[in-house]
Amino acid sequence: MIIDCHVHTGTDLVSGSALIGQLDAAGIDRMILLSYDPISFAHESEIKGGIMGKARGPAAALAAVMEMAAYSDRVIPFFWIDPLEEDAFGQVDRAVAAGIAGFKVICNRHFPGDDRPMQVWEHIAKAGKPMLFHSGILYGNGPWSRYNRPVGFEPLFDIPNLRFALAHVSWPWCDENLAVFGYWQNRKHHGTTSAEMFIDTTPGTPRIYRREVFAKIYSIGYDIEDNVIFGTDCYTPYDSKYAKEILEMDKDALDHAGVTPVQREKYYSKNVLRFLGK
Ligand SMILES: [Zn+2]
Repeated sequence: MIIDCHVHTGTDLVSGSALIGQLDAAGIDRMILLSYDPISFAHESEIKGGIMGKARGPAAALAAVMEMAAYSDRVIPFFWIDPLEEDAFGQVDRAVAAGIAGFKVICNRHFPGDDRPMQVWEHIAKAGKPMLFHSGILYGNGPWSRYNRPVGFEPLFDIPNLRFALAHVSWPWCDENLAVFGYWQNRKHHGTTSAEMFIDTTPGTPRIYRREVFAKIYSIGYDIEDNVIFGTDCYTPYDSKYAKEILEMDKDALDHAGVTPVQREKYYSKNVLRFLGK
């Protein structure tokens, strides 16, 4: 089984049948679908022009992603939360009540360890839901990458029972990502954290870094094989051709890194199911 842990809602959500058709064409069994971008991700000029691009208010964003999940259980719905929105706690509660599987975050004007965001993450952890964070360089509407360096996520180790993933192996800070993972594992071995860190390998890493990054992940000497998850960063309508390219690129890198069939099964499905709390 292959589960794509990182699919964005594009400007057009498309129909459920079109989406599932693309999954089938790519040979992907299930996907985590992230809801529309929060309003703070729309560019000022877009807002002024009355065009929101991919941004929506929280109610519309939640309704759209839940509608897709209701169409097929192959769609695993995640709600993209902006922790600085006034009713962020209410948004978490309403998403959980609606049956959301987890939450997505991109830090665009706050550090992950700032007070208010930390309170929101805690609220999510108490609900038992996982969090998928963007990490690494951020192509957005401003100088936002600084909020997304791996070390910025260390405060999350102190949130009881939080399960969180850092996407893109934090490219270009892949070594830093792995170092932070090593620190998390050290805390775990000492019994000083009940949080759990995952690494989402969604590119990110350009093709020339792909073999290198998988070689590092699987040979660094940490207990890491249970915490690495597969994703594509596709947008709806799901581009099966692009997803296939990623699958091929990953297969090449996994072959080069000598990753075993058992480890691959974990990478493509078992680990993300544990991340989801299944
Ligand atoms: Zn993404």
